[in-house]
Amino acid sequence: MPVLSGASNVRLVTVKDVSVKLGGHQALNNVSMSIDKGEIVTIVGPNGSGKSTLLRCVIGAVKPEIGTVLKAANLKIGYVPQSLAIDPTLPLTAGRFLSLPHRRPSKAVADALRQAGAEDIADRPMSGLSGGQFQRVLLARALMDKPDLLILDEPTTGLDQPGSADFYTQIEQVRRETGAAVLMVSHELHVVMSASDRVVCLNGHVCCHGSPEIVASAPEYRALFGTGTHGALALYRHEHDHHHHDGDACDHDHSHLESH
Ligand code: ADP
Ligand code: MG
Repeated sequence: MPVLSGASNVRLVTVKDVSVKLGGHQALNNVSMSIDKGEIVTIVGPNGSGKSTLLRCVIGAVKPEIGTVLKAANLKIGYVPQSLAIDPTLPLTAGRFLSLPHRRPSKAVADALRQAGAEDIADRPMSGLSGGQFQRVLLARALMDKPDLLILDEPTTGLDQPGSADFYTQIEQVRRETGAAVLMVSHELHVVMSASDRVVCLNGHVCCHGSPEIVASAPEYRALFGTGTHGALALYRHEHDHHHHDGDACDHDHSHLESH
């Protein structure tokens, strides 16, 4: 993997001062963040806060008017979009779905399904899969080309809490096995906390960010998020534009973004 900087961490992606307008709406405002090799970075934020737009900037589908998105040379990205509709009347098995559109070899399909924890469902029709199985097939598809960076947009939508927890455990295993970095959007901060190296809280701008340990151990975090599902709800009730003082729950030290 080529290195973007001389720092000890291998930087895969640097988003710097990015602003994006969509149809006259300021979707992203001066957003900076980064992803290092092998890191799991989770983006949280309310609906419409620009999470999907930020991911689309990283994959290159959205071009920022202002700011830059730097990627390591030859960076391979596996992307799972927020929603993917498959015609339920199509007689499409999971294995066939993965072999499209390039008629990929069945060995590659089997490997990807195994890495995604779905080796036993290759011959099952896509329309008959459970939510968790469907997401694992999408994960397998993103793993097909052995990406350096996996980008997952709300991959656990529609799963119950144990299903989501299982999925994040699978993501950690993928990271362990493949070394891929992961950039994902999640609503379930309380579930994803232990699996994330860093959390970025977005509301058009970066509201706050930091390691989950720092965020989780802070009294303000505990007051805001608590434990269990109440914490997830609290995320949507908290005021994203409020000012954070030093020592607040969210780490406002951006120096690690600029020091590379
Ligand atoms: P999130 O993923 O956090 O829910 P999005 O990145 O999808 O948010 O969208 C950010 C904001 O930009 C939303 O308010 C959305 O309505 C708006 N938006 C997205 N795409 C367009 C578009 N093509 N034209 C105008 N507004 C858009
Ligand atoms: Mg979205």
